[in-house]
Amino acid sequence: MEQQVRIKDQQIRYDVSYRDIKYPRLEFKTGDLLLVLPKNFENHKGLLEKHKTWIYKRESVIKTALKESEKKKLEERTDKEFRDLVHSYVENVEETSNLQINKIFFRRMKSKWGSLSHKKNLTLNTFLRYLPKTLLEYVIYHEMAHSVEKKHNERYWKTVSKIFPEHRRIEKDLLVYWFLVQKQFT
Ligand SMILES: [Zn+2]
Repeated sequence: MEQQVRIKDQQIRYDVSYRDIKYPRLEFKTGDLLLVLPKNFENHKGLLEKHKTWIYKRESVIKTALKESEKKKLEERTDKEFRDLVHSYVENVEETSNLQINKIFFRRMKSKWGSLSHKKNLTLNTFLRYLPKTLLEYVIYHEMAHSVEKKHNERYWKTVSKIFPEHRRIEKDLLVYWFLVQKQFT
């Protein structure tokens, strides 16, 4: 359900999802603010007040990405072309680095481009099919780099920077394409 609260002169719009969790958290996975709350949590306004700087910053990043997405176009690629690209890039990374994975899965994902399980299984969002090759390769490499470092710490970004020194810009582009895909397919 959509709710609103006014903090100073800013109106904050948000959705709420009550779950069986201990601590509240804020998400922007789809572009809209979602409060994930423990059951019986009531202090919405206090929580939003506490995180307002982060919320405003995130909202402005998303606004920019949405605007940017109007200038971009999705790639035309068959499902086979997409899967071939994925397999050959994974092979390439495995041959030229110490990053190794187990299996590759393709799935429609609601909130991310990819993930790597503790068993080192790589899951890729099928919407990656419509992304430029560099972005697709980056997502794969990003997840494969988690095979040696789970956290996004300094050591992790050092590994990523070896191949993608411009990873900050690519992450921004990924958000732009995220909205483009959402607009087209959901
Ligand atoms: Zn990551």
